[in-house]
Amino acid sequence: MRKNIVAGNWKMNLDYEQGISLFSEMVNMIQDEVHGNQQIIICSPFIHLPALVKLSASADQVAIGAQNINQNQKGAFTGEISAEQVKSTGAQYVILGHSERRAYFGETDELLAQKVDAALGHDLRPIFCIGETKEERESGDYFEVIKSQLSNGLFHLDAKAFQEIVLAYEPVWAIGTGLTASPEQAQEVHAFIRKTLAEQYGQDVADNTSILYGGSANPGNAQSLFSQPDIDGGLIGGASLKSRDFQEIINVFNAQ
Ligand code: PEP
Repeated sequence: MRKNIVAGNWKMNLDYEQGISLFSEMVNMIQDEVHGNQQIIICSPFIHLPALVKLSASADQVAIGAQNINQNQKGAFTGEISAEQVKSTGAQYVILGHSERRAYFGETDELLAQKVDAALGHDLRPIFCIGETKEERESGDYFEVIKSQLSNGLFHLDAKAFQEIVLAYEPVWAIGTGLTASPEQAQEVHAFIRKTLAEQYGQDVADNTSILYGGSANPGNAQSLFSQPDIDGGLIGGASLKSRDFQEIINVFNAQ
């Protein structure tokens, strides 16, 4: 059965002490609140990873992730961090394909396919983001965009490897903008993604894949989004920096 996942993306926020203090505030509360089929993932800047892994050691349902890796194994890539290095901190996940990295760092589907392989090669589970821009939505081409991001970034994987992937549908026009996809808009795309996975890998794999929604999710809209049949949780940016908001989003699952 697929897991319900609430993942926080801290982006490039919080200095070392602020990150430790926010996580310490969250972790006990999270562990007390989560249900058996729920997974909470905090994707922090690299600097926090080892400390967060230690702080979450006794919280079974809390895992830690990074927000990027380099596609290469090791070597002369000044300033970069490899999958192996992230894994050595004890982190278990990595966000790949976030629209900010696609837009500001020129990350293409082809590069992302290499990063996916690097992650899986070191036992790191990718949270792979896909989503259309405002123009692509308005032109009506968004299904094509989603399909090609899936196919170019991920469909080189066989079914066994694909089962390590968590997907996040993040319409670019909704990220950090305060605009949220309506539950119907999000559900339409999530159902399309699941259908596309079923065509590629079979219904079992499609049914077992967690597909998260991301884009200005907050305590006020989480219930209507997460109650959709194909939405299995959220990738939360801004609201993951406020422990009360993040807690309220997690609690939505408990109320369902
Ligand atoms: C994100 O960056 O993945 C995200 C969903 O951000 P926000 O929740 O702030 O829109």
